[in-house]
Amino acid sequence: MSRILIIEDEVAIADLEKDYLELSGFEVVMEHAGDTGLARALSEEFDLIVLDLMLPGIDGFEVCRQIREKKDIPVIMVSAKKDDIDKIHGLGLGADDYMTKPFSPSELVARVKAHMSRYNRLVNTNQKVNDVIEIRGIRIDKTARRVYIDGEEKNFTTKEFDLLTFLAENPNHVFTKEELFREIWDMDSVGDIATVTVHIKKIREKIEAGSSKPQYIETIWGVGYRFKL
Ligand code: CA
Repeated sequence: MSRILIIEDEVAIADLEKDYLELSGFEVVMEHAGDTGLARALSEEFDLIVLDLMLPGIDGFEVCRQIREKKDIPVIMVSAKKDDIDKIHGLGLGADDYMTKPFSPSELVARVKAHMSRYNRLVNTNQKVNDVIEIRGIRIDKTARRVYIDGEEKNFTTKEFDLLTFLAENPNHVFTKEELFREIWDMDSVGDIATVTVHIKKIREKIEAGSSKPQYIETIWGVGYRFKL
C-alpha cells in the first residue's frame, strides 16, 4: 500500500485530507509541525508528501528544500496564499505541485493519484534505461555485463567492457587517452596510456565491421577517442 505523509498544522484540514486519502486506499501518516514532519519524512519511507507552507517549527519552504536533498519522491505543496506559488517557483525547491487553500479533498486525491502513477512510471523507465545501452547495432547489457553486436554476443574482458561502456554512455564526447586511463584503470595500475590504445584496438576488432573506417569509436587525431552516436 502506498504511504503518504501529511505535514499540516491545521488539524481539521489534516484530518479531512487523511480521511479522503484513506478512503482511496492510501495509508496516511500526519505530522503537525515543520520540524517533526521533516524528521519523519527523512527517517521513514513514503511514496508522496503533502506539505503545508506555513508551519510552526520550520516552514514548508525549508522542509521541502531539506527533503529534496535526500529524496526524490513527489511533494505537493499547500498554501493559503496565491503569492506563494511564485515563491515556490522562484526558489526552485523542486516541489512537484502546489494547491491553494481552500481546495476540495477530492481534487487533492486526484492530484495525489496522478503524481504517484507518474512517479512510478518514471522510476520504472529509468531502471530499464540504466540497464541496457543500445546504439545502432550495439547492445550493452550493463547488468549482465554482456555485449551483443547485431544480436550476436561477443566476449569482452573486464577493462574492454568498462571502456566500451564508458564511451557509449558519453557519446559524442571526445576523451583523451589520459582521461580514459584515469577513468577505467585505477591510479595504482601498472601500465600507461598506451594500454588505452591497445584496448581500443581490441574493442574495435569485436565491434567494427572494418577497422579502416570505424563506425562506432572514432579516433580524433591528436586528441583522443569519441563514441559516435
Ligand atoms: Ca499552516
